[in-house]
Parts: sequence; C-alpha cells; structure tokens
Amino acid sequence: MSSAGLPLIGAHVPARGGVHNAVAAGVAIGADLIQTHPTPARTWRPLRLDPAILSLYRESFAASGLRGHHLHAVYLVNLGSPRPELLHASISSLVHHMEIAASLDADSVVFHAGSHLGAGLDAVLGQIGAALREVLAASPPGRARLLVENSAGSGGTIGRSFTELGRILHAAGSDRLGVCLDTQHAFASGYDLRSDEGVEGTLGELAREVGLDRLHLVHANDSRTGLGSNADRHANVGEGELGLAAFRRLLGDPRLRRVPWVLEVPGSRREGPDREQVALLKSLRQRRRRGAP
Ligand SMILES: [Zn+2]
Ligand SMILES: [Zn+2]
Repeated sequence: MSSAGLPLIGAHVPARGGVHNAVAAGVAIGADLIQTHPTPARTWRPLRLDPAILSLYRESFAASGLRGHHLHAVYLVNLGSPRPELLHASISSLVHHMEIAASLDADSVVFHAGSHLGAGLDAVLGQIGAALREVLAASPPGRARLLVENSAGSGGTIGRSFTELGRILHAAGSDRLGVCLDTQHAFASGYDLRSDEGVEGTLGELAREVGLDRLHLVHANDSRTGLGSNADRHANVGEGELGLAAFRRLLGDPRLRRVPWVLEVPGSRREGPDREQVALLKSLRQRRRRGAP
C-alpha cells in the first residue's frame, strides 16, 4: 500500500555519543523522521558540535531516507521567569538550539514556554513576546522554525490552551514561530480527543486561535492520566486513556495529515519509542474513515 498523502511518522530518539547516532536509531525503528535533544535536556550545557561528528551526521542523514529532523529544547527554558538571569539563559539556550538546527539543516526547534508561576499570562506576555523576538533576531537565517508546544496545564504553565498559544504567536509577531501540538498535553489540559465532537471542537479552536498554517508538528502520545488532569504523563499509543480509536480518528483528519507526527512514548522496554510503536501508529493511519476525503 502506498503511503502517499499519509502523515509521516517519526520518533524521539537518543543522540547519545553524537547526533549521527540518532539517525541510526531512527532508521532502526522504521521512523520516517526523528526528533532529538541535541544537548542534555535538564542542563544548560551547550553542545560543541565536533566537525567530524557533523560530517558523519550529514553523510548518514543523507543516506538514511529520513524525511526530517526536529530538535527539542531543554526543559529549563522559562520565558515567563521574573529572574533576569533565568530569562537570559532561556533566550541564549534557544538561540544555541537554532544555531544547531542551522548546522544540521533541521526543520525546527520545539520548546516549552515555561511558567508564569501563578502571575497569569497577561503579566508575562510582553516579556515572552520580546524574548522570542530577541531569539529570532539572534538566530542564524535558515529554514528552521521555532515551535512552541502546548502544555499539559499544571501549575502556572504557559501554553495550556490554543488561546494562550495564539496570544504568544501574536506577541512575537514572526512567521518563523509556529506551534507543536502534543496530543497528551492537549488531553490533560481538557481537550477531549476521544470523539468526533471533541476533535471538531479542539481543531476548530486551534484553527481559530492559532491558525492551521502555524501548526508544523504533532507529538503523538497516549495519556496515562485522565481528561483535564493537567499531568504530563505519556503512555504508549493504545495503552492510555486516549486509545487507538482516538489516534485513528486524528490521523485520518485532513487538517492533521499534512504535518509530521513524532512519538514521545515510553516504548515496551521503557527506553523510548520503538519499532512496535512506530509500526502501530503507521498502521492506524492507513484506515480511512468511510466517506472521508
Ligand atoms: Zn516537549
Ligand atoms: Zn511533546
């Protein structure tokens, strides 16, 4: 069966020992594209991209058949922080990731906006917009986009709704900034993706508040926790509260078919997305709903 017109299915893979290893890891599990943390995800430590590793990466990526590479920024980033040194470190880290993206010719840098720590988005929106403009002004030119990811909504996390994401895009005012939709975070934040009506409401709000043309990536994760739980707990596809039917429905939606999908699931050995999860998600996209375009 041809996969033409169907969404690409990728996976978050480790870049341990050099980013070229991520290419092999993606190929080994049958991914169409990869996502990596190019630097340790819970530190500010920058990456010294060794020229030998870079040429290894370029060679292996070109030979791999992979169709994309998205980078994920570190989890320490907080553009809503009242602490100047933390805000500055966040901006520098995002610029650094945009530089790595330019070196690797990667598609995007996905990041979490952070937390307003209870102050509310209104209190920090101006700061976030200015910070993102600073990041983009300092980033090398190139095709890599900066993608803000929706959050699961715990505490004061920013980006818990499409309204918030839309306000952030508007505050930054650049076409180079887009959105990544994480299915688990959306569900945990109260978007019910388990029914036609729920998906209609969710994607309708996304279209209205953000614009479908600003959506460039989907994170395909099932949820260990319930609707509106606000907890960021990924489950393997088909083993969580969303279930296979929800993914089949979402994968068949023409609004989501044109963007790549990336698994960030534990896998059967809890070592990250594996061949089984990639194959499962690919099998779900081939079943079109009757009467669908
Ligand atoms: Zn993320
Ligand atoms: Zn995610």
